[in-house]
Amino acid sequence: MHIHSKLPAVGTTIFTVMSRLATEHNAINLGQGFPDFPMSEELVTLVSEAMQKDFNQYAPMPGWIPLRESIAEKIEYLYQATVDPDTEITITPGGTYAIYSSLTTILQPGDEVIVFEPAYDSYIPNVEVNGAIAVKVNLVFPDYRIDWNAVRKAITPKTKALLINSPHNPTGSVISEKDIEQLRSIVKDTNIFIISDEVYEHLIFDKLPHQSILRYPDLLQRSFVCFSFGKVYNCTGWKLGYCVASAELTKEFRKVHQFNAFSCFTPTQVALAAFLKNKEAYLSLSSFMQEKKDYFKQLMQQTRFSMHESYGSYFICGSYERISDESDKDLAIRITKEAGVATIPVSAFYHNSKDDKVLRFCFSKKRETLETAVERLMKV
Ligand code: PMP
Ligand code: GLN
Repeated sequence: MHIHSKLPAVGTTIFTVMSRLATEHNAINLGQGFPDFPMSEELVTLVSEAMQKDFNQYAPMPGWIPLRESIAEKIEYLYQATVDPDTEITITPGGTYAIYSSLTTILQPGDEVIVFEPAYDSYIPNVEVNGAIAVKVNLVFPDYRIDWNAVRKAITPKTKALLINSPHNPTGSVISEKDIEQLRSIVKDTNIFIISDEVYEHLIFDKLPHQSILRYPDLLQRSFVCFSFGKVYNCTGWKLGYCVASAELTKEFRKVHQFNAFSCFTPTQVALAAFLKNKEAYLSLSSFMQEKKDYFKQLMQQTRFSMHESYGSYFICGSYERISDESDKDLAIRITKEAGVATIPVSAFYHNSKDDKVLRFCFSKKRETLETAVERLMKV
């Protein structure tokens, strides 16, 4: 049988490749972004209670209603935005699915979507599988800020959407209020949609405010804002998230969603509906993760990597010009095999494998894991 591939240029994701290599070589996995410490026991108990109380049948297609209500309360509290849980929030099987479904909702063949590189690996395939074109704009190396003049130049009459991600994977950069002003001036009086990937909303450091699109009603009316509980509550395997969009956009989004996943795993939704009421549980996340980031960054001073700054996410990047002039992919593979530490080469987040000689490290790990990893990296 012959398949006319929808994604002919796509191979296996770098996360799978590096995690497999880490397992093969018994390496510490600072590559794929997932915690190696247990998630909240309280939340685990709430899920098992939900199952025992027999919340085990289909949840409603847009999501468990009390969970959508809790999310709306949280949004009001954090971002002073009034969002209707009935018509403007949809629970999804993960953040990636929310992004994919948002793009699928709006894109027609030939449409253009502006994507910043380095880009989280699903974005460009998500655009292309819809027959649309990803127009890539580089973030400015080495601090990975947005060059808004480059964005202006990339816009054409075919531009359908702009995809933003803050805090940013893989670089840990975050957008500021000035970026929001630029974004606003660019999209004003256009029909350009915004897809905002905010899965690291709570993992933002140095008390920086998270510039959620939810804060800006004029931007929200043209946006799909995507979140992931997996990242927030250190349970990446749950694959549960949500999309916030105006009632008009949500109506179309749900047409796509209802014939794909239809609905999401019920017990976790029941548990989260209660857990979200506990503000401290999400407000404490940034200092919890910042401690890990600061600790790892400080430990890494003993190595020959030059660490960049990370303002949010699970990740921090490091340049290795003092170590080698190998490509970042070769180095990442070599240190997995020889030193026993897996990382992600940042060139994997560029369609043309642009290699600035930078590796991404995931610091969302136990202290002991970070210590052992750095002991090994000191030998590199
Ligand atoms: N966007 C970014 C930037 C991410 O790092 C992740 C993490 N996997 C996701 C989306 C997807 O989250 P989920 O696992 O909930 O699909
Ligand atoms: N978001 C995680 C990362 O960036 C991985 C998710 C995945 O493996 N698809 O590492």
